[in-house]
Amino acid sequence: MADFAELRRRMVERQLRSRGIRDQRVLAAMAEIPRELFVPDDQRARAYEDEPVPIGFGQTISQPYMVALMAQALELRGSERVLEVGAGSGYHAAVLGALAREVIALEVVPELVLRAQQNLEKAGRGQNVRVIWADGSQGYPELSPYDAISVAAAAPEIPAALLAQLADPGRMVIPVGSGWDQELRLVCKREGRITQRIVTFCRFVPLRSGGGLTQQ
Ligand code: SAH
Repeated sequence: MADFAELRRRMVERQLRSRGIRDQRVLAAMAEIPRELFVPDDQRARAYEDEPVPIGFGQTISQPYMVALMAQALELRGSERVLEVGAGSGYHAAVLGALAREVIALEVVPELVLRAQQNLEKAGRGQNVRVIWADGSQGYPELSPYDAISVAAAAPEIPAALLAQLADPGRMVIPVGSGWDQELRLVCKREGRITQRIVTFCRFVPLRSGGGLTQQ
């Protein structure tokens, strides 16, 4: 059996620290959370690879570096309520849960909602992370505003609902672009003003919208 603790340690050193991830809380969270519990059994050996890994339903768990970069950009300190759009395996939500007070993670594929919940429980990370079956392009107004929003699927433009549900001050990371040419943007709201900058270029699965929850 693979030595997952060793693979995890190496991932943090070689994929995160050496590429400039500096937020100690992000590094500590990712050094601790057992990523192998968030991938399907037949992908377990690939859990710590430097790339996205299939999780079924045509979806992927993001590359570790991308999770770290996105989490770092949010500058979480521990008191925040965070919205994640695209819970997938639940791994990214687990990382955010280790960095913030509370995470609401939305997912459109019902099977993945269940799986993400199970994965979070197995990893002992379920206490402050709630996975909800919802179309994340509409956000989740019931629990808004959110101090931080992390979007794990690409939209052609920033959905207005997400911007409206971002607290002031608040930070959002979101891949923007159609097709495979996307940029990861950091959007900051402060005193009623919105500023944006590009963090990196990226390649995420598309954010579904308008299709309703029953169409997969
Ligand atoms: N953060 C995930 C990776 C997500 S992949 C992880 O850590 O594993 C992107 C996910 O977004 C997929 O699971 C996909 O089903 C979901 N998704 C796509 N469109 C969505 C939408 N409109 N609302 C909620 N989830 C969506």
